[in-house]
Amino acid sequence: MGLTIDLSAIAANWQALAAKAGPGTRTGAVVKADAYGLGAARAVPALQAAGAQDFFVYGAHEGQAIRPVLGTGARIFVLEGHVPGAPMEGLIPCLASPEQFFRDRSTRPSGQFAVQIDTGMNRVGFAPAAWADLRAEVLAAGPVLLMSHLYSADVPEDPTNARQLALFRELTDGTGVPRSLAATGGVLLGHEYHFDLTRPGVGLFGGLPFADAMPVVTLDLPVIQTRWIEPGETVGYGGAWTAARRTRIATVSGGYADGIPRAAAGRGLKLWAGETAVPVVGRISMDTITCDVTDLADVPAELSLIGPAEPIDAYAAVFGSIGYEALTALGRRYARRYVDNA
Ligand SMILES: *Cc1c(COP(=O)(O)O)cnc(C)c1O
Repeated sequence: MGLTIDLSAIAANWQALAAKAGPGTRTGAVVKADAYGLGAARAVPALQAAGAQDFFVYGAHEGQAIRPVLGTGARIFVLEGHVPGAPMEGLIPCLASPEQFFRDRSTRPSGQFAVQIDTGMNRVGFAPAAWADLRAEVLAAGPVLLMSHLYSADVPEDPTNARQLALFRELTDGTGVPRSLAATGGVLLGHEYHFDLTRPGVGLFGGLPFADAMPVVTLDLPVIQTRWIEPGETVGYGGAWTAARRTRIATVSGGYADGIPRAAAGRGLKLWAGETAVPVVGRISMDTITCDVTDLADVPAELSLIGPAEPIDAYAAVFGSIGYEALTALGRRYARRYVDNA
């Protein structure tokens, strides 16, 4: 019923990614955006119990939210770095620019910090030239981690992976500081990408590029009504869909206010009765979706949107998106149920 989140699958996915890590590599857990929308308050303890000790969030407030859950043993890295006014107490900023470095050193001279170095993504991190200029000063301040991020790790044959790896080595070899380069995709590229700490996120939550991940999310929408309509009658706002035959329509709870994109309706979105697909017809409303269940012998009490027959990435592909976005878009209104089969 509703949104079911399998905590034992999250733990198993962390363990599977940890098992791929090279000798001496620690495996972290990226739990930004409330653990990719699944609820950090539940996912973080499950990951800690599985063995994770290094957690990454995006902003400091996310870090403060999980701090009490974790206790003092675990480290919490903040990918946004140190922005003005952020509550950094007990957190490790991943400093993304010289400006952040100077801000952090002047306001928390003895606080732990990590440094992000940009090796080609051109998003965040010290540019190689800025790193060259400040390297001695930064290293003297004692960073706990030097990190970079791959931008095409989900495409293993992309030559930019090896190029970023080589540049990261060039910029950090010999520093003696622990290093981190790999997110989920990088973990799958092999040991040379792993360094001292990996940072998988989406793979923990069942998303590609970790194709062997255990599924984590099931989303079942309750059928609140069914009705028969005659050929020529229309369904939903704008009368956007017209019945060509005598049709049985089922209306389920769940709409664009729950993160199901309205634009998905015209693109082949389906609901599932077990292994049987039923087409969504008409527009997606704020709270409801309508589908054609004429060919079902029995209409179940709920139809699933995400589940064994429709993994998160297949669902996302319907509306031209990716598992990451589909997960983080999952709405707050579903009845959420956490299960732990361990
Ligand atoms: C989001 C993010 C990760 C995790 O990436 P996944 O592809 O979800 O495993 C790791 N590192 C950085 C810097 C990130 O922004």
